[in-house]
Amino acid sequence: MKRLKIFQSKQELREWRENLGGSLGFVPTMGALHAGHLSLAQKSLEQNTHTLFSIFVNPTQFGANEDFDKYPKTLDKDIQLAQSIGVDAIFAPNISEMYEDSDPITLNPPKLMGSVYEGSHREGHFAGVLQIVLKLLMLTQAKYAYFGRKDAQQLLLIQKMVKDFFIPTQIIPCPIVRDIDGLALSSRNIYLTQKERQDALQIPQTLQWIQESFLQGERDTHKLRTLALERLDKVKVDYLAFCDHSLQELPSILPSQTLVLLTAKVGNTRLLDNLWL
Ligand code: AMP
Repeated sequence: MKRLKIFQSKQELREWRENLGGSLGFVPTMGALHAGHLSLAQKSLEQNTHTLFSIFVNPTQFGANEDFDKYPKTLDKDIQLAQSIGVDAIFAPNISEMYEDSDPITLNPPKLMGSVYEGSHREGHFAGVLQIVLKLLMLTQAKYAYFGRKDAQQLLLIQKMVKDFFIPTQIIPCPIVRDIDGLALSSRNIYLTQKERQDALQIPQTLQWIQESFLQGERDTHKLRTLALERLDKVKVDYLAFCDHSLQELPSILPSQTLVLLTAKVGNTRLLDNLWL
């Protein structure tokens, strides 16, 4: 089995990158790797000569009252997992390596797609996400970069940034990986108590109910939303939205063009899930 390389500096990463033949697939993460992250890497391993993970808890995408300080860090375990599936390298820089300048150029997310849902609940979040993803794409010069559908709005905004700025990397969306009980895997699931985790199952179960109703012919989003909210009585819903891929609300489901976004708090933990219809 090939030996995993670990880079902490941009310089080491660039030197490795310059000498690579074939294609590079890139999987950006904040670490605390789970099977969702590994599924992105598996896809990259299938499609590329080389696969690179980045592990970086990006401070600029966290709000002042969010969990930046307590975000789980499991680098040794992450390294073992990456090695076990045959990933070539991990880029794990520290904060000063990625943010050298105290007065940096920043990006404004688009007014419509960037200000709704996560954009309105997490001030500044997408500006931070786009900033770090742009830096990482410039550094890695990857042919493909893999993102989970789990973070649907993030994925759509990154696809838009790549399109708007003519970035040569192709973004590959990957399916949501779930635990056996249906809960979408997330590094934040470890914050849940046993009781909260049980309550949290209302999230995937309600999305599944929406999918079944859709398959039985229901298209009215107002009706679906009202009935779905009644099922979500053990969690605190931030939003449940039916929208198209430009994040415009839809009065009626358009097959293959509809995204159902559901975000709710369970105890102190905010969980995101969604369904692509
Ligand atoms: P994170 O480390 O949470 O920032 O996530 C890094 C990448 O993994 C993002 O593209 C996420 O959308 C993706 N991801 C996280 N959880 C899952 C999951 N359960 N299934 C698929 N992709 C995921």
